This record gives sequence, C-alpha cells and structure tokens, in this order.
Amino acid sequence: MRKANLILKALEDGTGILRLAPAWVPRDFLAPGRRLKLAPEDIYALGVQRGGIDERWLASTVKANNPGAPEDEGLSYVVIGDSEKAEKILLKEAISEFGETILGKDVVRKYGGWTVLTKFFDNEGPIPFHLHQKEEHAKKVGQASKPEAYYFPVQLNMVEGRFPYTFFGLNPGTKKSDIKKCIEKWEQGDNGILGYSRAYRLEPGTGWLVQAGILHAPGTLVTYEVQKASDIYAMYQSMVGDKRVSKDLLLSNVPPELRSDLDYIVDMIDWELNVDPKFKSHHHTKPFFTENPEETRKDGYTQKWIVYGTEEFSAKELTVLPNAKVKIRDEGAYGLVVVQGHGEIGKFEVEAPTMIRFGELTSDELFVSVEAAKEGVWIVNKSKVENLVMLKHFGPGNPATPKNLSNA
Ligand SMILES: [Zn+2]
Repeated sequence: MRKANLILKALEDGTGILRLAPAWVPRDFLAPGRRLKLAPEDIYALGVQRGGIDERWLASTVKANNPGAPEDEGLSYVVIGDSEKAEKILLKEAISEFGETILGKDVVRKYGGWTVLTKFFDNEGPIPFHLHQKEEHAKKVGQASKPEAYYFPVQLNMVEGRFPYTFFGLNPGTKKSDIKKCIEKWEQGDNGILGYSRAYRLEPGTGWLVQAGILHAPGTLVTYEVQKASDIYAMYQSMVGDKRVSKDLLLSNVPPELRSDLDYIVDMIDWELNVDPKFKSHHHTKPFFTENPEETRKDGYTQKWIVYGTEEFSAKELTVLPNAKVKIRDEGAYGLVVVQGHGEIGKFEVEAPTMIRFGELTSDELFVSVEAAKEGVWIVNKSKVENLVMLKHFGPGNPATPKNLSNA
C-alpha cells in the first residue's frame, strides 16, 4: 500500500514522468570498453569475479541473468523525491501496480506490459557469434523469441574500440554441412565459423535490425540496443581470439534430448535470412526524420526514427537546439536517456553525465507515461551553444512506429 502511494505520488509530482536511477550490469565473459561514463575506479565495483561493468540497462523491468547476481541486478528503480533523501521503487513494481496508467490499457491488454529491454553495451572486444532462437525453438525451452536492434550514438563513440565491425549472417553458398562440421570440432580450437560469415563496418549514427534466427557477432562500438525482453541465445563460435567459449552457451537453450542433434542445432539458424545476398539492405537502418527538419528546426528541434521496422519496439533520437523550448508529443509511453547537453524535461532538470560513481544517481534517465506523452512534454535546452540530445525507447503498440524498413 505504501509503495502504491509512493508511485502515485511520483506520477503526480512528475506530472506523469518518472525519474530513473542507472542500472549497471557486469558480464564475466566479456571485457568492458570503459565508455559508459562509469568512473574508472568503479568498473569492478562488484568484484573481479563478477566481471567488469560493460552494460547499463535502461527503463528495465528485466533481471540480469548473471551467476551470483543480486535480486535486483539489471532492474531500473524509480527515484522519488530529492537526490539526498530519495526513496526508490522498482519500475517493474510500478508497472505491475499501475500498468494501465503508465502504459495505457490497450498496451497492457494486447502485449501484457513493458515487453522491451533497452541497454547500452560497451565491450573492449567483439561478442561471440550467436543467435537468438525463433519462436518455435524458444517455446520448446519455455522462453520467448528475441529480435533486437542496434544504434550507435555518436556522443558515446568518439573512440570506436579495437574492432568496429560486426559479422552478420552467412555467406551465400554456405552449406548446412559446413556449419555442422564447425560444431563437431568445437573442442579442437577455433571452430572457424566466422570463415563462413561477413563483417560489416559499423558507422556511428546508424544501426541494424536483427530478427531472431540471424547469426551476429557485435563489434566494439558503444551500442544502444533495443530488444524484446527475453534472455535466450545460442553461441556458435568456439573461441574469440584465444578465449574459449563454453559449448554450454550453445546448448543451454536447447531441449536436453536434442543437444547432440546437429540437425536441430543448425535448424535454429534461419537459413534463408542468413544467406541473403542483400543482407545489408534488408537489415541496416539509417535514421530518418520524423517530420520535415526544415520546419521543425524553426520550432527548435529535429527528431529521427533510429529504431524501426518491427512492431515489438522502436526508438527516436530527439535533438533540441540551444536555448530552445519545445513541446514534443508521442503516441506511446517511453523511456529516455540524455546523451548530450543539459536542460529541463517536464519538471526535471536533466544533464548528460561526465562521470558517474557506481551506486549514485544521475539526472539523465526518465520514463514518460502514456498520457504525459500524448499530452506533450515540455523540453528546454538551457545551453546557449550545445544541443540537448536524448534517445527515446518505445515498447510495442506505438501506432506511429514505421512497421517496415522500406518506410525509410
Ligand atoms: Zn544478440
């Protein structure tokens, strides 16, 4: 009851906008890229055995599935009151209690809630070549399929890391027997699967949309990832450089009775999508303006769709020009993170952080409930010279989302 009252108070005080605390996540199988503004002395704040912190989850209602993780790892907290004596409640609890108010009745009924997970990930080296199972294979292990989208914010990618390329899909002409052989020689060193794939140069300010069943090995740009809230995957690469990838990571989301069935494991790969000779034109996402930028610039802003082409989620990048005050309307609830500049959003002061201590609050992350979004949010850029830039992540059921890539 007390929690419910607090959430209501937060919604009322923020006129439908909630302030969120940063949610940091370590990965013990990856090395951190150190570009998320987390203080260098806090990269291993959770202990070296837990791994370096290389992810920040945004507007998250998903617990990180990490060995040894505390109950609330990965979950976003709503911050209520002033920074000094703030109270905190999980966004997940706020949504399960007041989902219809925060997201809208239709969204809760049709999709069951906030079914999207957004994060920044930042790795020193590439991630092993993997896929996320399609619905038919995910269902067999009681999970949901997972499409995902990437966008590389310019502000976080002044340094591109040592491998700014991502392998996607398989070369046309690759045979299923080739991939079976790679899996058979898993324990004999590098299984050579990247030899059947192609890497694409990652460009800051653009992105990709990857449906379930597509193999990918994300490169080292800082990535704003919007994806369906699910943690299913299968790794197909046995070594990254000289680091071994456990075969368990290929098999953990395969039904036990099928773990030695190479046909099944290869069938998890959506063959047609992977060997598509026009892979880039079918998956690369170039941002495009939501409205004529010449017109909106006169009003003090420009806005682009940066993630689109699926019903599950979408994202926009909003730029408010120096000294401008604008009212921006949207058709669905969204989380937002400020990546450049400072100013005000609704009643909240916001700023892109320079350095964040682990466990401390920031003023860069908010959640805008559906009514507030529809009514329009006042945003003020308080800089005389610098843009105020934010990324806005939407869940399913935003009627404005461009449904396919050819809308661009
Ligand atoms: Zn992935």
